[in-house]
Amino acid sequence: MKYKRVLLKLSGESLMGDKQFGIDNARLTKYAEQIKEITDLGVELGIVIGGGNIFRGVQAEEGGMDRTHGDYMGMLATMINAMALQSALETAGIDSRLLSAIEMKEIAEPYVRRRAVRHLEKGRVVIFGAGTGNPYFTTDSAASLRAIEINADVIIKGTRVDGIYTKDPEKDPTAEKYDSISFDDVYSNGLNVMDMTAFTLCKENDLPIIVFNINIEGNLKRIIMGEPVGTIVA
Ligand code: UDP
Repeated sequence: MKYKRVLLKLSGESLMGDKQFGIDNARLTKYAEQIKEITDLGVELGIVIGGGNIFRGVQAEEGGMDRTHGDYMGMLATMINAMALQSALETAGIDSRLLSAIEMKEIAEPYVRRRAVRHLEKGRVVIFGAGTGNPYFTTDSAASLRAIEINADVIIKGTRVDGIYTKDPEKDPTAEKYDSISFDDVYSNGLNVMDMTAFTLCKENDLPIIVFNINIEGNLKRIIMGEPVGTIVA
């Protein structure tokens, strides 16, 4: 096993499957199956989930809403996804805890770093909900922050593409995939891996990022075993 403690970032959109909005339960079940494969190996797993399938503060602002207000709504959207994921994990027989950056004591534990680490040590998957708890951030930033806080070995970002490409592979067929790339080359080539706040936090704390296609079954386990899946930024 190459990685022992891992932070998985899933975007809200990855939960939509082929739907246009909301949550595709069949897709969630598939993710839970892949997650089970790695928790069975003894991997300590934290998960940060986005909310873009339901609500984004920036888009709300374009419609005339106050940005901060919209961002809090976005953070609540991540909690809906987090609860859906927790339910799928439970059905798959995975022990998990949901920790929220915004207090919601009836449905989640408050985020306390030491508590999160304790859950991981006990083999529970920890879902970090409500992003960082602050407006003007994203769940990518939450993923970087939590990964650093829990001393994760790596942050793995599940997407619907196979890794980082020279250009957008969904728009340009001449795009080529990188197997590995340095942080500096991501900057200088203007590649979009995460937003800059999140990305810089990883660079400054020497936290490698792996971008991979989570819709290919078994990929999560392959990464944990050290197979060259996706693109690694280090
Ligand atoms: N958000 C926020 N602070 C955070 C994390 C998220 O304000 O720390 C809000 C923000 O409005 C964001 C929305 O929640 O647009 C959903 O998160 P994100 O866009 O990161 O989700 P993803 O793109 O991963 O689905």
